Formats: sequence, C-alpha cells, structure tokens
Amino acid sequence: MSLEGKVAVVTGGGRGIGRQVCLRLAREGAKIVIFDLEEDSSRKVVEEIESKGGEAFFIRVDVGELEQVDEAVKRVIDKFKRVDILINNAGITCDRLLLRMEEEDWDKVLKVNLKGAFNCLKAVAKPMVRQRWGRIINISSTVGLRGNAGQANYAASKAGIIGLTKSAAKELGRRGITVNAVAPGFIDTPMTRKLDERTKKEFISLIPLRRAGRADEVASLVAYLASDEASYITGEVIKVDGGMAM
Ligand code: NAD
Repeated sequence: MSLEGKVAVVTGGGRGIGRQVCLRLAREGAKIVIFDLEEDSSRKVVEEIESKGGEAFFIRVDVGELEQVDEAVKRVIDKFKRVDILINNAGITCDRLLLRMEEEDWDKVLKVNLKGAFNCLKAVAKPMVRQRWGRIINISSTVGLRGNAGQANYAASKAGIIGLTKSAAKELGRRGITVNAVAPGFIDTPMTRKLDERTKKEFISLIPLRRAGRADEVASLVAYLASDEASYITGEVIKVDGGMAM
C-alpha cells in the first residue's frame, strides 16, 4: 500500500480519527498537510510524523470558509507542486432534539461537515484533474445512513456527504480520480468521549463486536482507499462499525 511521494491533505488531522489517518498515511510514505483549527494538537501530530522520519506541516484552516480553503490549497501546490489525496475528515456535532434545534445549530454543523467537504473537494479537484490521478475520501457516518434521534443536523450532513461522494465519483471518474466515503460507527475519540456512560453502553450493546472501534481501524480502510490497491473502487460507502449498522 505504498503512498511514497504522494501528497495528502487531511482535514481535522489534529486529533481522533484524523490524527490516526495522518500517522498511517505518513507511515505509508505520504507527505501530510493538516488543515485544522487546533494549532497545539496539530503541531504535535506534525512532530510525531517528523520524529519518525516523515514529512508533515500544518495550516490553520476553517474548512467551512471557502477563501481560507482556497488559500491553503494554493500553499500546498506552491510547496509540493501537487496534491494527490484528500481526506475530508473535519466534523463537529451539536446534538439537540428536533423541536429544540435552533437555526444556528443546523447551520454550524452543515457548514463544517458538508460545505467544508465541498470546499476542500472543489479546491483539490483542479490540480487532481491536471495530474489525472487523485483519491478523495470523505468521512461520513453510520448516522448518515440510518439517522439518529437528537442528531438531525449531523445525520443530514453525513447523508449529504454520501450524495456528494457519489456525484463527484461520477463527474471525476474519467479523470482518474476516485471518490469514496467511509462511514464509521461508534469510534473511541474525543468526539465520543464526551457522551455520558449510559449512552456509550447503549451504543456498545448494539455492536456485534461488543466494543467501540479504534481510530486506527478507520485509518486502515482510509489508507487502503487512498492507495493504488483500490484503483477500481469509486462511489462506495464503506462502514467501519463492528457490524452495528448491518
Ligand atoms: P474529533 O472531534 O475528535 O476531531 C475532529 C477534528 O476536526 C478536530 O481536530 C477539530 O479541531 C477539527 N475541526 C473541527 N472543526 C473544524 C473546522 N471548521 N475546520 C477545520 N478543522 C476542524 O472527531 P473524530 O471523532 O475524530 O471524528 C472525525 C470525523 O469522523 C468527523 O467527521 C466525524 O463526524 C466522523 N465520525 C466520527 C465517529 C466517532 O464515533 N468518533 C463516528 C462516525 C463518524
């Protein structure tokens, strides 16, 4: 699964699933660029990669802001002259039951999770088309497939990611670019650690493998989809959920 010489942009790479994706792609030889809001944690990931002989750097970007994304992708191209892999991973939650959900809760989540993915996809698509090679992997969620009480905004954003993935796969396929979605189930990260113990237990009772997933287990699939090994897979949504949503 060598990614030697490839340049990978990972959004939300500062912690959780994004961090493990950065470490795994770097281990396969890719140069990593982290787009994140959190400077301290992202710099630690950069240091970790550098300490193992890899190459990485961090750009502070709010993926929901088109101008910031365009500017950051320009910097990537200036430095490396190419961008081969995009992992649209940055995501947030703002959970409330529908009747209590404010316009602001809806807008905030859709702006980061869905518009953010569109912004980044659009910005890297041009250089990828020129290269006639690209891998775009969008992190969706099993919640985008099945819905979840209290997460209408998040579920809509993650279902939207699936529509975006399939449309982009159809448009970009003839240019040598594959676009796939990964749908994690319940993964142990800072995002899920903030849930109360009862909710966590309820989730785990629904998982045939009877445990939360690890971020590196999601990263393994992402690395595979980013590689030449996955050259004939596009427009797919692949779950990494211990069997929870089958
Ligand atoms: P996390 O909260 O641990 O990490 C998210 C990262 O995204 C952070 O580093 C954060 O700073 C960054 N980020 C947030 N808003 C941003 C913005 N506007 N611009 C740039 N960066 C921003 O989350 P995680 O659990 O690692 O989740 C990663 C992805 O996986 C998300 O898209 C999430 O929806 C999805 N996911 C997670 C789970 C799970 O169980 N943890 C399940 C399904 C899907």
